[in-house]
Amino acid sequence: VVLSGGMDSGVLLAEAVNRHTHRQVRALTFDYGAKHAARETASARFLARLYRVRHKVVRLPFIPRLFASDLLQNGNDVPEGHYCDPIMKRTVVPFRNGVMASIAVGYAASLGIPEVWIGSHAGDHPIYPDCRPEFIDAFNYAVHCGTEGQVRLLAPWQDLTKAQIAKIGAILSFPLELTWSCYRGGEWHCGRCATCVERKEALDLAGLPDHTRYLDPVYGAFPAPEAAGEQAA
Ligand SMILES: [Zn+2]
Repeated sequence: VVLSGGMDSGVLLAEAVNRHTHRQVRALTFDYGAKHAARETASARFLARLYRVRHKVVRLPFIPRLFASDLLQNGNDVPEGHYCDPIMKRTVVPFRNGVMASIAVGYAASLGIPEVWIGSHAGDHPIYPDCRPEFIDAFNYAVHCGTEGQVRLLAPWQDLTKAQIAKIGAILSFPLELTWSCYRGGEWHCGRCATCVERKEALDLAGLPDHTRYLDPVYGAFPAPEAAGEQAA
């Protein structure tokens, strides 16, 4: 399982351990120089320990030197707003899933593990091209040819929304509050970046309590606080 430390891949880890056993599952986390790398990696380590899964953190320190993205430590400030806003293209790390999946496939083939799971989901599709089903399908063909069918790349959440993933997490008693989403990587979740907005919206739509500590818990809340107030009135 490619484990970022966020909600989607965290629930995916829980699902993998649920379907198999913790001994059969490995977790790989990539530190590619994102602003929130320390936060994500800490969450990933915690989740791997919790699920008693062997875990490796792979550092890719060359990525910020070669790739341009506002998600990276050398990029501009992370934009605020909804995750479907075209401005969020600035947070794309070009071909990131291709890079990570390539390493994960090589690792899986080395260990004789037949499947690599990544947590991309329907909400990623508008902005992130390497999360879309056509990318997964095309990449999977390359994986099949490049490993002589030893390994398959799977994205079990690719047709699900983040709210549906959160619900699965709740069914699996997964500790959603221990995952990290915020692209800014501060002490608390900022509450205003795309992934914070998406996290709030997903938990709200799923009807689950949101125990995340946000600097701005109101921004982007779904439904908008004014509309909720009107309904209450
Ligand atoms: Zn944030």
